[in-house]
Amino acid sequence: MLHQTNFTFSEDLMPREEGATRYIVLHHSEVATPHTAANIHHWHQNKGWAGIGYHYFIDKEGEVYECRPRQMVGAHVYGHNHESIGVCFEGDFNKEQLSEKQETAAVKLLSLLSLAYPVAQLCRHSDFNNAKHCPGENFPFERIKLRIMECVWNMLGIGTNRNVSSDATNH
Ligand SMILES: [Zn+2]
Repeated sequence: MLHQTNFTFSEDLMPREEGATRYIVLHHSEVATPHTAANIHHWHQNKGWAGIGYHYFIDKEGEVYECRPRQMVGAHVYGHNHESIGVCFEGDFNKEQLSEKQETAAVKLLSLLSLAYPVAQLCRHSDFNNAKHCPGENFPFERIKLRIMECVWNMLGIGTNRNVSSDATNH
């Protein structure tokens, strides 16, 4: 389920330029669970930031929270905030595994984002900064990319092999 948070940010957020969304960047929170999007909002404010740096947060139960409005510049990937959307998963995936509920929610959210931003490339934080190990070595990035592809095919109604089998009977 998708939840609005309506967090209050301590500075005005800047909109990303039209067409500037080149990347969707995945992160883990890398702190002891459980914690919430509201916890991260407060931690990021304590660092002197406007508030939570991510646009979306997916908790262990697969609940999705809209954090920064997705058309605004985030604070999650150095040098690329002006051209990216940040999605954070609750957990430390250098130590633990993504839950099935988190993975299912991620596939749905990222499929919607890939339709809304068709030129944006799905990346890990570590693709920009390999000192970060984010979203963690256990994060199933390749499997999620495949599942997004299948999900988008299904959303577009072209995911079945019915035509293949009817071709086979005709020939
Ligand atoms: Zn990260």
